[in-house]
Amino acid sequence: MAIAPVLELQQLSHVYVNAKGASLALEQLDLRVERGEFVSLVGPSGCGKTTVLSLMAGLFPPTIGNVLLDGEAVAGPSSKVGYMLQQDFLFPWRTIRDNAAVGLEISGRKTPRTMEIVDELLAELGLPDSGRRYPYELSGGMRQRVALARTLATEPEVLLLDEPFSALDLHIKLQLEDLVHETLTRRGKTAVLVTHDLAEAAAMSDRVIVLGRNPGRIKCEVVIDEELRALSPMAARKLPSFQATFERLWAELDAVDDEGGSYNG
Ligand code: ADP
Ligand code: MG
Repeated sequence: MAIAPVLELQQLSHVYVNAKGASLALEQLDLRVERGEFVSLVGPSGCGKTTVLSLMAGLFPPTIGNVLLDGEAVAGPSSKVGYMLQQDFLFPWRTIRDNAAVGLEISGRKTPRTMEIVDELLAELGLPDSGRRYPYELSGGMRQRVALARTLATEPEVLLLDEPFSALDLHIKLQLEDLVHETLTRRGKTAVLVTHDLAEAAAMSDRVIVLGRNPGRIKCEVVIDEELRALSPMAARKLPSFQATFERLWAELDAVDDEGGSYNG
């Protein structure tokens, strides 16, 4: 059964050019992400994780190589891809409901029917009666749930998540990991998560890609055990094989470290 991967990086290299000169941020990345897969990218600060997501999102073209989405070269932002960041970027003057509908508005798809989807999403994400409230009335964890609703409202196939939990308190973070994992799994979404938290990567992913730096490249890939993948992130953390996976990732990152610099997320 030869199904094309939903997302594919082919020999991807990226050079940033600015007033200070040119720097090679990524070198020859190859990656295939299958439909419904949850893949995490981990690696030291500056190894190019955000650059990879930006290229996947079509925010700018790679210097060399291709990004394919459903087998087609990405030439710019696509409604098939949703992006969720550490900062929620909610508009303070808009209600929660209107914030969640921003993507629909921008893409000209705001209708009574799609607003029903927004209301369903807010309810499903545990924000049933907060639609008329404003962002300042919500906690950080609730605001990130609104950001998730906003991302899902446009029904993207692929979600790109750049450290979406890293500004949250630990127990809120664990709850949101479960909520995001369950919501995406139930909908059959494909996800690429950037995180500096190795436990989060081990708990949430089907596969973890470890990146090295100078220049950014793929060091290795760790496939998560089936028994961990079958569970929610919170439940997976309690299995003995979780600790082993964490230690394996830690060792891989230590190996990256030995090549220079310190690992600080
Ligand atoms: P990460 O997300 O893993 O911390 P980034 O993708 O943000 O890494 O950055 C990778 C490298 O590219 C870093 O060395 C960073 O300084 C550099 N870089 C990122 N964005 C730019 C930019 N707009 N202009 C120049 N250099 C950049
Ligand atoms: Mg980054």
